[in-house]
Amino acid sequence: MNEVLPHLDELLFSSVEGVVVESVEVTDTAVRIEARTTAGLAVCPGCGCWSGRIHGSYLRFPHDLPTAGKLVVVSLRVRRFVCAEHCCPRKTFAEQVPGLTRRFGRRTERLRSTLVAVGLALAGRAGARMTGAFKIPVSRNTLLRLIVSLPDPAVAAPRVIGVDEYAQRKGRVYGTVLVDVETRRPVDLLPDREPDTLAAWLAERPGIEITCRDRATFFAEGATRGAPQALQVADRWHLWHNLGEAAEKCVYRHRGCLRPTPAQPAQPQDEAEPTASSPWPTGHRFAERTRAKHATIHALLAAGHSKRSVARQLGMTLNTILRFSRATTPEKMFTGQWQSRATRLDDYKPYLDQRWQEGCTNAWKLWEEIKEQGYPRGYASVRDYVSRTLRGKPQQSAPGHHPPAPSPAGASPTPTPYLKAIGSGSKPPCPTAPN
Ligand SMILES: [Zn+2]
Repeated sequence: MNEVLPHLDELLFSSVEGVVVESVEVTDTAVRIEARTTAGLAVCPGCGCWSGRIHGSYLRFPHDLPTAGKLVVVSLRVRRFVCAEHCCPRKTFAEQVPGLTRRFGRRTERLRSTLVAVGLALAGRAGARMTGAFKIPVSRNTLLRLIVSLPDPAVAAPRVIGVDEYAQRKGRVYGTVLVDVETRRPVDLLPDREPDTLAAWLAERPGIEITCRDRATFFAEGATRGAPQALQVADRWHLWHNLGEAAEKCVYRHRGCLRPTPAQPAQPQDEAEPTASSPWPTGHRFAERTRAKHATIHALLAAGHSKRSVARQLGMTLNTILRFSRATTPEKMFTGQWQSRATRLDDYKPYLDQRWQEGCTNAWKLWEEIKEQGYPRGYASVRDYVSRTLRGKPQQSAPGHHPPAPSPAGASPTPTPYLKAIGSGSKPPCPTAPN
């Protein structure tokens, strides 16, 4: 057996120095390896000094990779050394075998690196199943702990940095996420979105040439103070997002100008019927989106999913799910600024309706008339009432049938029907109004 042992050292601990195999015992299920360390000196972890004074020895049983499908049990005798330095807080210390053991480690380094590789490839649950197949079963939490204990990879100093906020708890706690725009990888997370924190982070990285941010004031201030040398630009996502929102609002504001052309058939009665009381008719984008969400949520709830589960599945907050679940019909979700609430204008609505029926479609003129009667508010409410409510009502003489009127002072020489209808020269012409 002894003649074979030198080969076993190379076979079992090929990349490890200072370990000799004393015996190997193979049973049906396991391979038992008895080994000991041979180094004459060991370095103290407290002071870094070398010591050769042996205090004692003991056995360690680090878990190792299985071999030939059998469990490997390593029985490693290591020694405890006396530290000779008087100023060192340690009196004795245990030796470690580089490449095989580490302090407090219960696995050999090669088993540890294998588990790390599995964890990085498959993460928790799938990785834990895979280690079971390899006969080195560990829990998913062990795999995650091993990954977390890895040192952070070295990150190159970013040249173009993207700054945005992220929610730790939506609506309550926000932090700042910093992304290297060139590699598209997150670089750091800051615990808040204060300008001081961002400025301090940027000041430590003078190589930043471009800061890419949204228009939040705290980011503007932080970027200006922390990286005054950097050019500040608006990022593409926010530009598109803001443009999309502005366009949607603008189109909605001017939806009254979108009249059906004569060639289009009128909407079938059965489609308009369920939303007759709704401020958003069928075919409206907001309304259709809300109706689709309402149908999905109620279908999931009817299938027996809990509200929390539905919230998770759809990526919505629980409060949103609760609001949808309380609404028996999607029309009940159409609340907010379009809901019919009591306003100061209510008392004047009969008069406005009557004037509209008489053919007065000039919102400014209507406002001036009710102002004389004591209406205390501004023009905007009257304009909204005219465009949202009265425009849908039939009137004795439609504005389109009027003969061309002479240009009012200050207005466009050829006013569009929209300009004529609201009667204000200061309003920009609606791009969607028919000419
Ligand atoms: Zn020491």
